[in-house]
Order: sequence, then structure tokens, then C-alpha cells
Amino acid sequence: MARGSGSGSAHVVALAFPQAGHTNPMLQFSKDLASQGVIITFVSFAFDHHRMLKADKTLQRMGIRLRFESIPDHLPPGVDIVSDLFKIFGQLYQMEGSDLEKVIQRLNVTGPPVTCILHDVFMPWVAQVSHNLNIPRAVFYTQSATVGAIYHHFKYVQKWNNCEQDSKDAVVIPAIGEMRMPDLPSSFFPPLLTAGYLDICLSLVDSFNRASWVIWNSFDELEGKAINHLREANVPVCTVGPLIPSAFLDRRNSEDTQFGGSPWEEETEECMEWLNSKPPHSVVYVSFGSIATISTKQIWEIGRGLQSSGQNYLWAIRPSAGQTTVWENFWEGFAEEIGDRGLIVKWSPQLKVLNHPSVGAFMSHCGWNSTLEALSCGVPLLACDLRFDQPANCKLIVDLWKMGIKLRRTQNADGDVMFAWDEIERCVRRVICSEEGAELRKNAVRCKESAKKAKMEGGSSHSNVNGFVKEISK
Ligand code: UDP
Repeated sequence: MARGSGSGSAHVVALAFPQAGHTNPMLQFSKDLASQGVIITFVSFAFDHHRMLKADKTLQRMGIRLRFESIPDHLPPGVDIVSDLFKIFGQLYQMEGSDLEKVIQRLNVTGPPVTCILHDVFMPWVAQVSHNLNIPRAVFYTQSATVGAIYHHFKYVQKWNNCEQDSKDAVVIPAIGEMRMPDLPSSFFPPLLTAGYLDICLSLVDSFNRASWVIWNSFDELEGKAINHLREANVPVCTVGPLIPSAFLDRRNSEDTQFGGSPWEEETEECMEWLNSKPPHSVVYVSFGSIATISTKQIWEIGRGLQSSGQNYLWAIRPSAGQTTVWENFWEGFAEEIGDRGLIVKWSPQLKVLNHPSVGAFMSHCGWNSTLEALSCGVPLLACDLRFDQPANCKLIVDLWKMGIKLRRTQNADGDVMFAWDEIERCVRRVICSEEGAELRKNAVRCKESAKKAKMEGGSSHSNVNGFVKEISK
């Protein structure tokens, strides 16, 4: 299919998977395109549309104009992105495209015509819409290029032979090197393997070559080998990352200080006031992203570990899936002990927190956005990877960029595998108080400089965005 269609200004219809880890980078890329004069129509699913309307207000306050539309999702009323994640995924992964097609046909009539459909990789059915309407298509990939290259390898080169996750075996993947079993994405192992998630991840790779572009939230200097490997395999990779609000990186728009579309209210004033009262690099920021559910026991281990480390901490514990009660019960007898050492919030303005000079480390589940955000702010990580792509991200953080410490997991008396309080205590001290921590911070700052360069005028990601805009404007 020819790239671009018609003439005049570029108009992109963008469709994200409705979860913060996917909508945040898609909104940010949309903002980058809009700042170059591209018209963006951001299409959301009905159950999540209210969040996008909130995003619209936030973006307008920043002087950014996107258009918002919604399509039916055929989901039962009241679904929740955390507790119903797999139900929502199952539905949105295999929808049929007539509702999206109707929206695009209407937009083509009202004009300007749509010149590109940008869609989350988890919605492969958009390929048919693009084909029916003869509009070129860009896939939006929200994980690292390394993870993409791993799936690519196991799709086309080597058959996966079901190794145990905790075995000592390793696989060698060209351009990446040796990956131990525990470092592979958890889709290679039960329960995700048996649920069919690996097959889905591998089949999605197949859709790469049939798209005109694969927009990647990474940058050439960060994952050069994996990116080149994919390009050599004819994947039309267009790296545009890191997708971080402009005020924290390239500073082209100082008003652009949040993604927009925050799923919960950000407790900004409380966090900033508290951080302002702490010395530089003295605070550990703790968050496990927007969908991970942490057990009561694990929460207790984290609390005890942070408290006994003697260091300051800001901890975001989301108010979803039973965690509100955990949160309230846990702190009831503990509040006095915490004193001024810790601040617990339900949802933080994560980038503002990471960018604050008092923050010295980020204890994270290593979601790809959190990883890029830490890196873009020059903050070292305490890596507590949980599932999906997080183990592979953790390997990049610790072994390749050397900007973090991986926490060891242990089995407790009940057989639960978790991060124990004494490991947390030890690692927090290591990163905040030792020479080693200072070295990790230096490496993180080096990554930050490189990220900034990629996004500035003439940088790799900046040039790729320009090239993409030219192509969709033809
Ligand atoms: N986030 C936030 N406040 C919080 C926790 C998370 O704004 O208290 C944002 C964070 O900045 C990131 C996203 O939520 O952009 C989480 O994405 P990530 O890929 O790290 O993890 P996921 O939620 O997909 O597991």
C-alpha cells in the first residue's frame, strides 16, 4: 500500500490500549505530532472515554489540542482496568473493526482526510480497517526493542522449547547476547504461557512487516543493537522515544508537564511539599505501576524494609483491587513509627517526583514506562521486576546500562516468593548511602543526557518523528 494518501495536512487516527502504560506514551507521541501541525483524532473505548475527556481538559490547559472520539467496546458495564485486565484485553484484542471504520469514514467526509492509522500492537484487527480504507498504518509498540527482538527471534529463528523459568539454562539471541531463563519475559512460562499469551506475543511480531511503520518507544543510542537487528530483519522500526512530557526532557514546551489522562488523582502538592523538605538524593520513591497487584504480605515486607533502612521514602500504593483496605490496615498501627520519614500516597505525579532533586532512587516493578521515566530523570533503580516484559527490562537496567540493583527474591515459610524486608533494607542503603549508589546515579545521568540528545533538534528520535510526519503528509 502506498504511504500517505491524498494531499494537504496530515491527520492521524490514534487508538491506544486503555491502560496508563499504553495511553501515556501514545498521548505523548500524539502531542509530539500535534506540535508539528499534525491533526490527531484520539479514539478511545467507551468504558475509558471519561478518562480521555479529562485528558483533553488537561492538555488544553497546556495549550495542546487533540481531538477525541469514542467507539463501543461491547464490554459489560463497570469493568475495571486492574481487576478485569484480561477480560478487557481478550475483548479488545479480537474486536471487529466496523465501528472504527465508521468513525474514520465520517472524519474523511468532514476532513481533512485521515492519512495514517496509528494503533496499539495489541489491536491487530486494525490491519483490516487500514486495508479496507486504503489508509497506511503504523503499529505502536509499548515495550522495549530488546523484548521485540526476543519475540522476533522465537517467532522466526528458534522454536521455544518450554524451559523452566528458574532453570540455569540460557539462550543466545543475536544482537542481544545471552539471556538466562529468569530474564526472559514471563510470557515464556506458566501461567502466561499456558494461557496462550506467548502465542499472542509471537503472532503480533508477524504483524510488524505488514505495517508501514512500527513506532517504538525507545531510542537508537539506548538499544542500538536490538533496534538494528530488527531493522535488518526488515521491521520498519521508527524510534521516537523516550516518550516523556517535553518539560522533563527536550523542554520545547515547558507547559507540558504531564501525560494527561491520569487514571487517579495525582497528589501533587502533598508530594512536592514533602520532597521540598528533604535533602538532595535522600528519598527512595516506590511505585509498582498502574496494574500490578501486590499481596498484603509483600506490602508488609516493603513497609518494614523501608522503615528499617532509616532512609526517607515516598510510596505510591494504588487504591484498587482490595489495596485500599490493605493500605489502611497496614498503616493503622504504623503511622507514628513512620513519622516524617515516609509519605504514603495513592497515586503520585510520577515524573514530577522523579525529577525532584530530593529523589535518590526509584524502587520499581520495571514497567517500560517507569524504566524510561527513571532514565530520563537520571534516577537509579531498585529493580523488583514482577511479570510480562519486566524481567528483561530489569536485565537492561542492571547489566547493560548499569543504573540499578536487582533485588533478590526469597521464599518465605508459606512458600510465597517475594522481596523480603531485609533485602529491601540492604538495597535501599546500598543505593542511597554508598559509593556504589553514586556510581549508579552517574550512569543514570549519562542515560538521561543521551535521552535528551535523542529528543532534541537533530537527535535520532527527533529526526525520525520529522521523517514520519513528512511521510504521512505526502
Ligand atoms: N504512574 C503515575 N503515578 C503512580 C504510578 C504510576 O503517574 O503513582 C504512571 C507512570 O508514570 C507510568 C505509568 O503510570 O507512565 C505506568 O507505566 P509502566 O509501563 O511503568 O507500568 P504498568 O502500569 O504498565 O505496569
